[in-house]
Amino acid sequence: MDIDQQLAPALTARKREHLYRSRRVLASAQGTRVQVDGKTFTGFSSNDYLGLANHPKVIEAMQAAASQYGVGSGASHLVNGHSVVHHALEEELAAFTGRPRALLFSTGYMANIGTVNALIGKGDAVFEDKLNHASLLDAGLLSGARFQRFLHNDVKSLEQRVQASDANRKLIVVDGVFSMDGDVARLPEMVDIAERHNAWLMIDDAHGFGCLGKNGGGCAEHFGLSEDKLPILMGTLGKAFGTFGAFVAGSEVLIETLIQEARSYIYTTAMPPAVAAATRASLKLLQEEHWRRDNLVQRIKQFRAGAENLGLQLMPSPTPIQPVVLGDEARTMAVAAHLEKNGFLVGAIRPPTVPRGSARLRITFSANHTERQVEDLLSALGDAVQANRGDSE
Ligand SMILES: *Cc1c(COP(=O)(O)O)cnc(C)c1O
Repeated sequence: MDIDQQLAPALTARKREHLYRSRRVLASAQGTRVQVDGKTFTGFSSNDYLGLANHPKVIEAMQAAASQYGVGSGASHLVNGHSVVHHALEEELAAFTGRPRALLFSTGYMANIGTVNALIGKGDAVFEDKLNHASLLDAGLLSGARFQRFLHNDVKSLEQRVQASDANRKLIVVDGVFSMDGDVARLPEMVDIAERHNAWLMIDDAHGFGCLGKNGGGCAEHFGLSEDKLPILMGTLGKAFGTFGAFVAGSEVLIETLIQEARSYIYTTAMPPAVAAATRASLKLLQEEHWRRDNLVQRIKQFRAGAENLGLQLMPSPTPIQPVVLGDEARTMAVAAHLEKNGFLVGAIRPPTVPRGSARLRITFSANHTERQVEDLLSALGDAVQANRGDSE
Protein backbone atom coordinates (compact mmCIF):
# COMPACT_ATOMS: atom_id res chain seq x y z
CA MET A 1 0.00 0.00 0.00
CA ASP A 2 1.25 3.46 -0.73
CA ILE A 3 1.17 6.23 1.85
CA ASP A 4 -2.14 7.74 0.72
CA GLN A 5 -3.92 4.41 0.86
CA GLN A 6 -2.66 3.88 4.39
CA LEU A 7 -3.64 7.34 5.59
CA ALA A 8 -7.02 7.77 3.90
CA PRO A 9 -9.20 5.55 6.16
CA ALA A 10 -8.49 7.70 9.24
CA LEU A 11 -9.59 10.79 7.34
CA THR A 12 -12.78 9.07 6.22
CA ALA A 13 -13.51 8.03 9.80
CA ARG A 14 -13.03 11.58 11.02
CA LYS A 15 -15.51 12.88 8.46
CA ARG A 16 -18.05 10.26 9.46
CA GLU A 17 -17.72 11.29 13.11
CA HIS A 18 -18.05 15.03 12.39
CA LEU A 19 -14.48 15.48 13.62
CA TYR A 20 -12.86 16.56 10.38
CA ARG A 21 -11.10 19.89 10.68
CA SER A 22 -10.57 22.36 7.91
CA ARG A 23 -9.17 25.84 7.65
CA ARG A 24 -11.00 28.98 6.63
CA VAL A 25 -9.20 31.65 4.71
CA LEU A 26 -9.07 35.03 6.42
CA ALA A 27 -8.64 37.89 3.97
CA SER A 28 -8.78 40.85 6.35
CA ALA A 29 -6.95 41.94 9.45
CA GLN A 30 -8.16 40.37 12.68
CA GLY A 31 -10.98 42.41 14.20
CA THR A 32 -14.66 42.41 15.09
CA ARG A 33 -15.51 42.52 11.35
CA VAL A 34 -13.60 39.94 9.37
CA GLN A 35 -13.58 38.68 5.81
CA VAL A 36 -13.52 34.92 5.67
CA ASP A 37 -13.89 32.73 2.58
CA GLY A 38 -15.06 35.74 0.63
CA LYS A 39 -17.78 36.84 3.06
CA THR A 40 -17.87 39.45 5.80
CA PHE A 41 -18.73 38.38 9.34
CA THR A 42 -18.97 39.80 12.81
CA GLY A 43 -16.28 37.73 14.46
CA PHE A 44 -16.56 36.18 17.91
CA SER A 45 -13.80 33.63 17.61
CA SER A 46 -10.42 35.31 17.85
CA ASN A 47 -8.14 35.59 20.88
CA ASP A 48 -7.44 39.24 20.08
CA TYR A 49 -9.22 40.14 23.32
CA LEU A 50 -8.09 43.76 23.53
CA GLY A 51 -8.33 44.59 19.84
CA LEU A 52 -4.61 45.24 19.51
CA ALA A 53 -3.77 42.95 16.58
CA ASN A 54 -4.61 45.68 14.09
CA HIS A 55 -3.94 48.77 16.20
CA PRO A 56 -2.31 51.67 14.27
CA LYS A 57 0.36 52.25 16.93
CA VAL A 58 1.31 48.57 16.97
CA ILE A 59 1.47 48.47 13.17
CA GLU A 60 3.55 51.63 13.09
CA ALA A 61 6.03 50.23 15.62
CA MET A 62 6.42 47.09 13.54
CA GLN A 63 6.94 49.05 10.33
CA ALA A 64 9.52 51.36 11.89
CA ALA A 65 11.45 48.43 13.37
CA ALA A 66 11.38 46.54 10.07
CA SER A 67 12.89 49.58 8.37
CA GLN A 68 15.64 49.79 10.97
CA TYR A 69 16.39 46.13 11.76
CA GLY A 70 15.11 44.30 8.71
CA VAL A 71 12.74 41.37 8.76
CA GLY A 72 14.51 38.17 9.75
CA SER A 73 16.45 37.99 13.01
CA GLY A 74 18.95 35.83 11.15
CA ALA A 75 19.98 33.55 14.02
CA SER A 76 18.98 32.06 17.34
CA HIS A 77 19.20 34.17 20.51
CA LEU A 78 22.40 32.43 21.62
CA VAL A 79 24.17 32.77 18.31
CA ASN A 80 23.67 36.40 17.32
CA GLY A 81 19.94 36.89 16.78
CA HIS A 82 19.26 38.50 20.19
CA SER A 83 18.64 42.13 19.24
CA VAL A 84 18.42 45.28 21.30
CA VAL A 85 14.65 45.21 20.68
CA HIS A 86 14.23 41.69 22.13
CA HIS A 87 16.32 42.73 25.08
CA ALA A 88 14.27 45.86 25.77
CA LEU A 89 11.02 43.88 25.52
CA GLU A 90 12.33 41.32 28.02
CA GLU A 91 13.15 44.09 30.47
CA GLU A 92 9.71 45.61 30.03
CA LEU A 93 7.99 42.24 30.50
CA ALA A 94 9.99 41.69 33.70
CA ALA A 95 8.86 45.08 35.02
CA PHE A 96 5.26 44.41 33.91
CA THR A 97 5.10 41.07 35.75
CA GLY A 98 7.07 42.30 38.77
CA ARG A 99 9.65 39.57 38.27
CA PRO A 100 13.44 40.06 38.13
CA ARG A 101 13.75 38.62 34.63
CA ALA A 102 11.74 37.56 31.59
CA LEU A 103 12.76 35.45 28.61
CA LEU A 104 11.20 35.59 25.14
CA PHE A 105 10.27 32.41 23.29
CA SER A 106 9.09 32.19 19.70
CA THR A 107 5.71 30.65 20.59
CA GLY A 108 3.77 29.61 23.67
CA TYR A 109 3.94 25.99 22.62
CA MET A 110 7.72 26.21 22.58
CA ALA A 111 7.87 28.10 25.87
CA ASN A 112 5.96 25.31 27.60
CA ILE A 113 7.92 22.47 26.01
CA GLY A 114 11.24 24.16 26.77
CA THR A 115 10.49 25.29 30.30
CA VAL A 116 9.00 22.07 31.66
CA ASN A 117 11.77 20.02 30.10
CA ALA A 118 14.51 22.30 31.43
CA LEU A 119 13.15 21.87 34.95
CA ILE A 120 12.20 18.22 35.33
CA GLY A 121 13.09 14.80 33.99
CA LYS A 122 13.30 11.16 35.02
CA GLY A 123 12.85 10.67 38.76
CA ASP A 124 10.68 13.80 39.05
CA ALA A 125 6.91 14.21 38.94
CA VAL A 126 4.62 16.60 37.11
CA PHE A 127 1.03 17.31 38.17
CA GLU A 128 -1.30 18.66 35.49
CA ASP A 129 -4.92 19.69 35.42
CA LYS A 130 -6.93 17.37 33.19
CA LEU A 131 -7.96 20.36 31.06
CA ASN A 132 -4.49 21.84 30.63
CA HIS A 133 -3.57 23.14 27.20
CA ALA A 134 -2.14 20.51 24.84
CA SER A 135 1.28 22.17 24.91
CA LEU A 136 1.54 21.66 28.68
CA LEU A 137 0.39 18.06 28.43
CA ASP A 138 2.90 17.40 25.66
CA ALA A 139 5.62 19.11 27.68
CA GLY A 140 4.93 16.92 30.72
CA LEU A 141 4.81 13.71 28.69
CA LEU A 142 8.02 14.53 26.87
CA SER A 143 9.88 15.23 30.12
CA GLY A 144 10.03 11.62 31.23
CA ALA A 145 8.89 12.69 34.71
CA ARG A 146 6.06 10.71 36.31
CA PHE A 147 2.98 12.27 34.72
CA GLN A 148 -0.11 12.72 36.84
CA ARG A 149 -3.34 14.41 35.88
CA PHE A 150 -5.73 15.69 38.52
CA LEU A 151 -9.44 16.48 38.21
CA HIS A 152 -10.21 19.84 36.69
CA ASN A 153 -9.49 22.66 39.14
CA ASP A 154 -9.95 20.21 42.02
CA VAL A 155 -7.45 21.11 44.73
CA LYS A 156 -8.23 17.97 46.77
CA SER A 157 -7.46 15.78 43.81
CA LEU A 158 -4.23 17.72 43.31
CA GLU A 159 -3.15 17.57 46.94
CA GLN A 160 -3.73 13.80 47.21
CA ARG A 161 -1.39 13.22 44.33
CA VAL A 162 1.31 15.67 45.40
CA GLN A 163 1.23 14.39 48.98
CA ALA A 164 1.60 10.77 47.88
CA SER A 165 4.58 11.52 45.64
CA ASP A 166 8.12 10.81 46.74
CA ALA A 167 9.60 12.21 43.56
CA ASN A 168 12.76 14.20 43.63
CA ARG A 169 11.33 17.40 42.13
CA LYS A 170 7.59 18.03 41.94
CA LEU A 171 6.17 20.48 39.41
CA ILE A 172 2.53 21.57 39.48
CA VAL A 173 1.55 23.19 36.20
CA VAL A 174 -1.81 24.63 35.19
CA ASP A 175 -3.45 27.04 32.79
CA GLY A 176 -4.24 30.32 34.58
CA VAL A 177 -7.40 30.66 32.49
CA PHE A 178 -8.56 27.43 30.88
CA SER A 179 -8.62 27.90 27.15
CA MET A 180 -11.78 25.96 26.30
CA ASP A 181 -13.78 26.60 29.50
CA GLY A 182 -12.76 30.15 30.38
CA ASP A 183 -12.63 29.51 34.13
CA VAL A 184 -9.74 30.62 36.34
CA ALA A 185 -7.40 28.23 38.18
CA ARG A 186 -7.72 28.15 41.99
CA LEU A 187 -4.23 29.53 42.34
CA PRO A 188 -4.13 30.68 45.97
CA GLU A 189 -4.99 27.15 47.13
CA MET A 190 -2.49 25.68 44.70
CA VAL A 191 0.18 27.99 46.10
CA ASP A 192 -0.56 26.56 49.57
CA ILE A 193 -0.33 23.01 48.31
CA ALA A 194 2.96 23.72 46.58
CA GLU A 195 4.37 25.29 49.74
CA ARG A 196 3.19 22.50 52.04
CA HIS A 197 4.52 19.72 49.87
CA ASN A 198 7.68 21.30 48.59
CA ALA A 199 6.52 21.49 44.96
CA TRP A 200 7.10 24.15 42.31
CA LEU A 201 4.18 25.97 40.72
CA MET A 202 4.08 27.05 37.09
CA ILE A 203 1.18 28.76 35.33
CA ASP A 204 0.49 29.29 31.67
CA ASP A 205 -1.46 32.54 31.60
CA ALA A 206 -1.99 32.73 27.83
CA HIS A 207 -5.57 33.94 28.29
CA GLY A 208 -5.16 35.90 31.51
CA PHE A 209 -2.58 38.49 30.51
CA GLY A 210 -4.21 41.67 29.30
CA CYS A 211 -7.67 40.62 30.46
CA LEU A 212 -7.37 39.97 34.18
CA GLY A 213 -5.82 42.21 36.83
CA LYS A 214 -6.18 45.96 37.14
CA ASN A 215 -3.25 46.62 34.80
CA GLY A 216 -3.68 43.53 32.69
CA GLY A 217 -1.12 41.57 34.71
CA GLY A 218 -3.25 38.43 34.44
CA CYS A 219 -3.87 35.84 37.14
CA ALA A 220 -0.75 36.79 39.11
CA GLU A 221 -2.02 40.35 39.47
CA HIS A 222 -5.64 39.24 39.92
CA PHE A 223 -4.69 37.09 42.93
CA GLY A 224 -1.73 39.24 44.02
CA LEU A 225 0.78 36.39 43.68
CA SER A 226 4.40 37.51 43.75
CA GLU A 227 7.37 35.56 42.48
CA ASP A 228 7.97 33.71 45.78
CA LYS A 229 4.42 32.27 45.58
CA LEU A 230 4.30 31.78 41.85
CA PRO A 231 7.88 31.24 40.70
CA ILE A 232 7.26 30.22 37.07
CA LEU A 233 4.99 32.53 35.12
CA MET A 234 4.44 31.95 31.41
CA GLY A 235 2.46 34.18 29.06
CA THR A 236 1.82 34.36 25.34
CA LEU A 237 1.90 37.40 23.09
CA GLY A 238 -0.42 36.21 20.32
CA LYS A 239 -3.64 36.69 22.29
CA ALA A 240 -4.47 39.87 24.23
CA PHE A 241 -1.12 41.39 23.22
CA GLY A 242 -2.23 41.07 19.61
CA THR A 243 1.21 40.14 18.26
CA PHE A 244 3.18 36.87 18.40
CA GLY A 245 5.50 34.95 20.69
CA ALA A 246 5.64 34.12 24.37
CA PHE A 247 7.66 34.68 27.53
CA VAL A 248 8.52 33.16 30.87
CA ALA A 249 9.06 35.46 33.85
CA GLY A 250 10.79 34.56 37.10
CA SER A 251 14.01 34.77 39.06
CA GLU A 252 17.48 35.40 37.73
CA VAL A 253 18.40 31.75 38.36
CA LEU A 254 15.27 30.41 36.67
CA ILE A 255 15.81 32.49 33.54
CA GLU A 256 19.53 31.69 33.34
CA THR A 257 18.65 28.00 33.70
CA LEU A 258 16.21 28.28 30.78
CA ILE A 259 18.81 30.05 28.64
CA GLN A 260 21.24 27.17 29.28
CA GLU A 261 18.80 24.25 29.19
CA ALA A 262 15.58 24.96 27.29
CA ARG A 263 16.09 23.26 23.94
CA SER A 264 13.14 25.00 22.26
CA TYR A 265 14.77 28.29 23.25
CA ILE A 266 18.28 27.39 22.17
CA TYR A 267 17.69 25.61 18.88
CA THR A 268 15.38 27.99 17.08
CA THR A 269 15.57 31.31 15.27
CA ALA A 270 14.74 34.38 17.35
CA MET A 271 11.45 36.04 16.48
CA PRO A 272 11.82 39.00 14.11
CA PRO A 273 12.88 42.12 16.02
CA ALA A 274 9.97 43.98 14.41
CA VAL A 275 7.56 41.59 16.14
CA ALA A 276 9.22 42.40 19.44
CA ALA A 277 8.95 46.11 18.65
CA ALA A 278 5.24 45.73 17.90
CA THR A 279 4.84 43.93 21.23
CA ARG A 280 6.55 46.77 23.09
CA ALA A 281 3.89 49.10 21.66
CA SER A 282 1.05 46.74 22.53
CA LEU A 283 2.39 46.20 26.07
CA LYS A 284 2.16 49.95 26.58
CA LEU A 285 -1.44 50.11 25.30
CA LEU A 286 -2.40 47.02 27.28
CA GLN A 287 -1.22 48.62 30.54
CA GLU A 288 -2.39 52.17 29.94
CA GLU A 289 -5.75 51.82 28.22
CA HIS A 290 -7.94 50.55 31.04
CA TRP A 291 -11.06 51.23 28.97
CA ARG A 292 -10.28 48.12 26.95
CA ARG A 293 -10.65 45.85 29.97
CA ASP A 294 -13.71 47.83 31.11
CA ASN A 295 -15.41 47.37 27.73
CA LEU A 296 -14.60 43.70 27.74
CA VAL A 297 -16.18 43.25 31.17
CA GLN A 298 -19.33 45.06 29.98
CA ARG A 299 -19.68 42.88 26.87
CA ILE A 300 -19.10 39.68 28.87
CA LYS A 301 -21.78 40.70 31.38
CA GLN A 302 -24.19 41.57 28.61
CA PHE A 303 -23.63 38.26 26.86
CA ARG A 304 -23.99 36.16 30.01
CA ALA A 305 -27.23 37.87 31.01
CA GLY A 306 -28.65 37.46 27.50
CA ALA A 307 -27.57 33.83 27.16
CA GLU A 308 -29.13 32.98 30.50
CA ASN A 309 -32.39 34.50 29.28
CA LEU A 310 -32.19 32.18 26.30
CA GLY A 311 -31.81 29.22 28.65
CA LEU A 312 -28.33 28.35 27.36
CA GLN A 313 -25.82 26.39 29.39
CA LEU A 314 -22.95 28.71 30.30
CA MET A 315 -19.80 27.87 32.22
CA PRO A 316 -18.44 29.64 35.33
CA SER A 317 -16.24 31.93 33.27
CA PRO A 318 -15.45 35.55 34.16
CA THR A 319 -13.18 35.84 31.11
CA PRO A 320 -13.64 36.68 27.41
CA ILE A 321 -13.90 32.94 26.71
CA GLN A 322 -17.60 32.08 26.94
CA PRO A 323 -18.38 28.50 25.95
CA VAL A 324 -21.93 27.40 25.21
CA VAL A 325 -22.00 23.65 25.69
CA LEU A 326 -24.32 21.84 23.27
CA GLY A 327 -22.95 18.33 23.80
CA ASP A 328 -23.45 16.70 20.46
CA GLU A 329 -20.85 17.30 17.72
CA ALA A 330 -23.31 17.40 14.82
CA ARG A 331 -25.62 19.79 16.62
CA THR A 332 -22.73 22.06 17.56
CA MET A 333 -21.66 22.22 13.94
CA ALA A 334 -25.24 22.91 12.82
CA VAL A 335 -25.70 25.77 15.29
CA ALA A 336 -22.36 27.28 14.24
CA ALA A 337 -23.36 26.96 10.55
CA HIS A 338 -26.70 28.64 11.26
CA LEU A 339 -24.92 31.53 12.96
CA GLU A 340 -22.60 31.79 10.02
CA LYS A 341 -25.48 32.06 7.59
CA ASN A 342 -26.61 35.02 9.63
CA GLY A 343 -23.20 36.67 9.54
CA PHE A 344 -21.62 35.58 12.84
CA LEU A 345 -18.42 33.63 13.18
CA VAL A 346 -17.95 31.64 16.40
CA GLY A 347 -15.67 28.76 17.32
CA ALA A 348 -17.12 25.24 17.23
CA ILE A 349 -15.00 22.98 19.43
CA ARG A 350 -15.20 19.22 19.31
CA PRO A 351 -13.33 16.26 20.77
CA PRO A 352 -10.47 15.62 21.20
CA THR A 353 -9.94 19.30 22.02
CA VAL A 354 -12.73 18.95 24.62
CA PRO A 355 -14.05 15.76 26.29
CA ARG A 356 -16.56 13.66 24.38
CA GLY A 357 -20.15 14.80 24.88
CA SER A 358 -19.10 18.39 25.61
CA ALA A 359 -18.87 19.83 22.11
CA ARG A 360 -19.46 23.51 22.35
CA LEU A 361 -19.49 26.90 20.78
CA ARG A 362 -16.50 28.87 21.97
CA ILE A 363 -17.57 32.47 21.81
CA THR A 364 -14.87 35.01 22.53
CA PHE A 365 -15.11 38.73 23.09
CA SER A 366 -13.00 41.70 22.20
CA ALA A 367 -12.77 45.15 23.76
CA ASN A 368 -13.79 46.45 20.34
CA HIS A 369 -17.15 44.66 20.17
CA THR A 370 -20.08 47.05 20.45
CA GLU A 371 -23.17 46.58 22.59
CA ARG A 372 -25.17 46.30 19.37
CA GLN A 373 -22.96 43.52 17.99
CA VAL A 374 -23.43 41.44 21.12
CA GLU A 375 -27.18 42.09 21.08
CA ASP A 376 -27.34 40.89 17.48
CA LEU A 377 -25.27 37.82 18.28
CA LEU A 378 -27.64 36.88 21.11
CA SER A 379 -30.64 37.19 18.86
CA ALA A 380 -29.04 35.04 16.14
CA LEU A 381 -27.91 32.52 18.76
CA GLY A 382 -31.45 32.19 20.07
CA ASP A 383 -32.70 31.45 16.54
CA ALA A 384 -29.87 29.03 15.79
CA VAL A 385 -30.47 26.99 18.93
CA GLN A 386 -34.24 26.94 18.30
CA ALA A 387 -33.69 25.69 14.76
CA ASN A 388 -31.39 22.89 15.93
CA ARG A 389 -33.00 21.46 19.03
CA GLY A 390 -31.45 18.22 20.28
CA ASP A 391 -33.42 14.95 20.63
CA SER A 392 -33.46 15.29 24.37
CA GLU A 393 -35.40 18.55 24.32
C1 LIG B 1 -2.57 29.54 22.77
C2 LIG B 1 -2.02 28.85 23.95
C3 LIG B 1 -0.71 28.37 23.96
C4 LIG B 1 0.17 28.38 22.76
O1 LIG B 1 0.67 29.64 22.52
P1 LIG B 1 1.19 29.97 21.05
O2 LIG B 1 1.99 31.21 21.23
O3 LIG B 1 -0.01 30.15 20.21
O4 LIG B 1 2.03 28.81 20.64
C5 LIG B 1 -0.24 27.81 25.13
N1 LIG B 1 -1.03 27.69 26.21
C6 LIG B 1 -2.30 28.10 26.22
C7 LIG B 1 -3.12 27.95 27.45
C8 LIG B 1 -2.85 28.68 25.08
O5 LIG B 1 -4.11 29.07 25.06
